[in-house]
Amino acid sequence: MIVAERKPLEEIKTMVSGFKNVLTVGCGTCVAVCLAGGEKEVGVLNAELKIARKLGGNPIDMGGVTVERQCDMEFLEEIKETVGQFDAMISLACGAGVQFLAERFPDKPVFPGVNTSFIGANRDVGWYEEKCRACGTCVLGMTGGVCPVTMCAKSLFNGPCGGTNQGSCEIHKDQPCAWHMIYERLSKQNRLESIIEICPPNDWRNTIPRTIVQPGYKGRKEAL
Ligand code: SF4
Ligand code: SF4
Repeated sequence: MIVAERKPLEEIKTMVSGFKNVLTVGCGTCVAVCLAGGEKEVGVLNAELKIARKLGGNPIDMGGVTVERQCDMEFLEEIKETVGQFDAMISLACGAGVQFLAERFPDKPVFPGVNTSFIGANRDVGWYEEKCRACGTCVLGMTGGVCPVTMCAKSLFNGPCGGTNQGSCEIHKDQPCAWHMIYERLSKQNRLESIIEICPPNDWRNTIPRTIVQPGYKGRKEAL
């Protein structure tokens, strides 16, 4: 899932300081699971903002709504009447959701209420770990299911580097060396031949937004 963190109240307060009637839009998927931007967090943010603005002598009316997914136009369509009643919006979705909300309602200023942090996994309640950097060329099959792009400080596709030291990374002493972990994992699976296979360099020139159309839907895209 995409993991995000709520922005500090002061930052959000500053962004909407010129508005009196603001709708906070939560997202019911990734950001709800990681406790940053679901229905509950919409309520908490609205209460905090209302109190802060009242104390500052500049009261604000806040509305709240949570859609199933902000990164899907179908669900944004459902809130168009509600959006019409407000001057601006705070989105608690990831960066993709914020941009889709802004695209669907281009006349309304939209402000991000969270910092989108990473693609991660849920280790425990409220505890999330980064697992993938969406490099576009997944090599997990060769690395025993350990991501070298995320876990290695140098994002090496072929490792380890010369600095690995008794299982630790030379860049961050508290961080296990990704390539040591890969070695251990492959060793347990009797697949060490994978570690000596040279991985071609990734194409890091992802300077334009990437688009994926799944094979079964190419005709549909062309017809649009
Ligand atoms: S190699 Fe790592 S960063 Fe790349 S897609 Fe796979 S898990 Fe994600
Ligand atoms: S010590 Fe290991 S994790 Fe750290 S940069 Fe070198 S190969 Fe990557």
